[in-house]
Amino acid sequence: MEGGKIEGAGRPDADYRIALGRVGRLRGRVGRIDFAWGEKYNGCAAMINLRQKLLRTRESIKGRIDALLASPKNREEILDALMEILILADVGIPTAEKIIDNLRRASKRSDAPQEIRTLLQHEIAAILTRNSAPVNLGQPHSVAMFVGINGGGKTTSLAKLARLYQSQGKQVMMVAADTFRAAAQEQLTIWGKRLSVPVIRGQYGADPASVTYDALQSFKARGFDLLLIDTAGRIHTNTNLMNELEKIKKIVSREIAAAPHEVFLVLDASIGQNALIQAREFMKFSGLTGIFLSKLDGTAKGGCVLSIIDELQLPVKFIGIGERETDIMLFSPLEFAQAMIT
Ligand code: GDP
Repeated sequence: MEGGKIEGAGRPDADYRIALGRVGRLRGRVGRIDFAWGEKYNGCAAMINLRQKLLRTRESIKGRIDALLASPKNREEILDALMEILILADVGIPTAEKIIDNLRRASKRSDAPQEIRTLLQHEIAAILTRNSAPVNLGQPHSVAMFVGINGGGKTTSLAKLARLYQSQGKQVMMVAADTFRAAAQEQLTIWGKRLSVPVIRGQYGADPASVTYDALQSFKARGFDLLLIDTAGRIHTNTNLMNELEKIKKIVSREIAAAPHEVFLVLDASIGQNALIQAREFMKFSGLTGIFLSKLDGTAKGGCVLSIIDELQLPVKFIGIGERETDIMLFSPLEFAQAMIT
């Protein structure tokens, strides 16, 4: 997904022709991403990319649904088997039950299998759409914090967002506020060099809030557009960590009115339902505004996105679909539902 560049160009398949039709209508608007506009942006040929990246989740859900709907089962048998398919794709039991209950209410005994598939897609999209909210980083001095446990993909996701906004002509700055992990600071510095984005880092063991304060002064003085703050994720000292995050947030809001504009909880989709357990710890931190769901590529557990949205009552705003800086997409509920089961 790059501004002005449509991924998948040159593909001869039907999907691509449909996408091209839409791109034609949307041309001129894709050059500069309006971040409140994820639906339509992803609606371009990036959809083909999404299907490819979600391949394992798609195989796990769509593959099994195709086989099920081709079998001569009645509606009740189909609904029971669908429940099993959803649970196997890490949708989680409470959310899977909710989907099947709704499906039972919405469908008729006489419905053909294809009608059940359409209704299922609708139910999945309804859950994914719940709580959705636009990305709030269009302010003159926008600030986003990234929180989540170590190894979840925080630093990489932050770098991806830096590149995305940079590609839209924004001046971006990054802060390594995990001062106790030399490797984390080093990793962000490497990303900074690679992307030509300035990185503010403090002494080893320095107070993360004071490093953030210094970064905010530089950010304001240089008139940059977007400040991205990487934070620590050592969950075993949970109380300290939550206090530390609150302190960083307080400094940010004291220095820039209405900031931080976004606080992303980065969750690793490849651990499926365990991501929810981690997320519950971070729900103790007051400021979360959305989820950045990383590592959706290469996992069959992508169904966890449904229970994450359903149970945490937070929107998923971005997804990570690979290790490169370009492997990021705005989350589009309708297209995600489509890519999962059609
Ligand atoms: P942090 O400790 O939370 O900052 O996590 P990192 O950013 O260091 O990421 C941990 C590992 O996950 C690294 O090897 C990243 O390359 C990898 N990673 C991050 N995001 C993605 C993604 O969307 N897809 C894949 N396949 N790997 C990812």
